Amino acid sequence: RASTESITLRAWPLLVLVNPHSGTGHAPQLFHSHVQDMLTEAGAQYTLLVTERQNHAHELLREADLSQWDALVILSGDGLLFEVVNGLMERADWEDAVRKPLGILPGGSGNAVAASVNHYSGSQALSSEELLLSCTFLLCKGLVSPLDLASVTTASGQRHFSFLSVAWGFVSDVDIESEKYRRVGAARFTVGTLMRLASLRVYRGRLAYLPAQELPAPGLAEGCPDLPGRASLRCLPSESHSAPHTLYNSSNSNNSGKAPSPGVQGPADTLLAPLDQPVPAHWTVVKEERFVLVLAVYQSHLSQDLLAAPKATLGDGLLHLFYVRAGISRAALLRLFLAMEKGTHLELRCPHLSYMPVRAFRLEPCTPKGVITVDGEAVEYGPIQAQVHRGLGRLITG
Ligand code: ADP
Ligand code: MG
Repeated sequence: RASTESITLRAWPLLVLVNPHSGTGHAPQLFHSHVQDMLTEAGAQYTLLVTERQNHAHELLREADLSQWDALVILSGDGLLFEVVNGLMERADWEDAVRKPLGILPGGSGNAVAASVNHYSGSQALSSEELLLSCTFLLCKGLVSPLDLASVTTASGQRHFSFLSVAWGFVSDVDIESEKYRRVGAARFTVGTLMRLASLRVYRGRLAYLPAQELPAPGLAEGCPDLPGRASLRCLPSESHSAPHTLYNSSNSNNSGKAPSPGVQGPADTLLAPLDQPVPAHWTVVKEERFVLVLAVYQSHLSQDLLAAPKATLGDGLLHLFYVRAGISRAALLRLFLAMEKGTHLELRCPHLSYMPVRAFRLEPCTPKGVITVDGEAVEYGPIQAQVHRGLGRLITG
């Protein structure tokens, strides 16, 4: 398990952001009925902010004086956390800003990170209300762990910082199509999965990746890019990804490379070649070009009920890459998703499913129209690539 440090809520003023549009639309009520008393008992001081519109939190965190708060707590689904992380990364002082501890409480319909935090704590899977109580309790304990962020670049050069997933095909279609079933809460993914199974599609494209055990090519190894600011460390082979990982501190966090292009903030993506050039020669190019889904996930859970990457731990520096080749039957795909509820899908040894831990990947869809989601949010459709930045952010895990 990655090393942690702790904060004392008593001394740490919190900003609590609540999205009234998330889940079934009851997040503000959930705060008053389930969260408020526990925070007060823990002696926490907090400012409550109910977002007024999409991107409100994003804009606020891009501009705000962050010294007012020592941690940012999000009561919503993963979408509001995505706004917060990307708002922080757009600041001139992104390097310090993104180290502000983030807490996540499940108030949405897609509560993947909250379900993952609960899972990492050793707790069994819980229903929505119990999960909220468990996560609030963990928040009050105030243990902070490193959070890996993937830098995801699209064809127009836009960069997103992602803590959860990149999905294309079956999973991204379900993500977006199920938005209209938001009123059923977390069950929207089950409904969406069954609907999409009925009209199963094949998606054409190319996929390439840098396997986790592969060290960067010699020219790229200096200043290991997925460990910001720790120039003396080399990328860890995957067998040792459980080695203790300490947080970098401010005295050595100022040499993590230049931003890749003007106006784009964040650490340099030194594992990636530009999207208009071929992938580096030591990458693995997948032979298949017809898929049902491609999914990179870097938390254990993809949603409250889907334990997609049972081996994932916080700060493991890995993107867990799955793909399902075309030709799989509806029944076999359904079996995979049912097994994923318990995290046993790899044990089915389905010949159409491939899995490998990677540091970076590129996906180039050939199907002209489609949906790609990053952390459950639709992004520009087209060629896309990502690399992990190990421990760039911090998450309160308890
Ligand atoms: P859910 O898990 O239910 O999808 P999310 O946290 O993902 O919940 O939020 C859903 C969407 O709502 C996100 O795209 C987020 O950016 C957006 N959002 C945030 N605040 C508001 C608001 N006040 N009104 C409408 N949409 C909002
Ligand atoms: Mg969402």
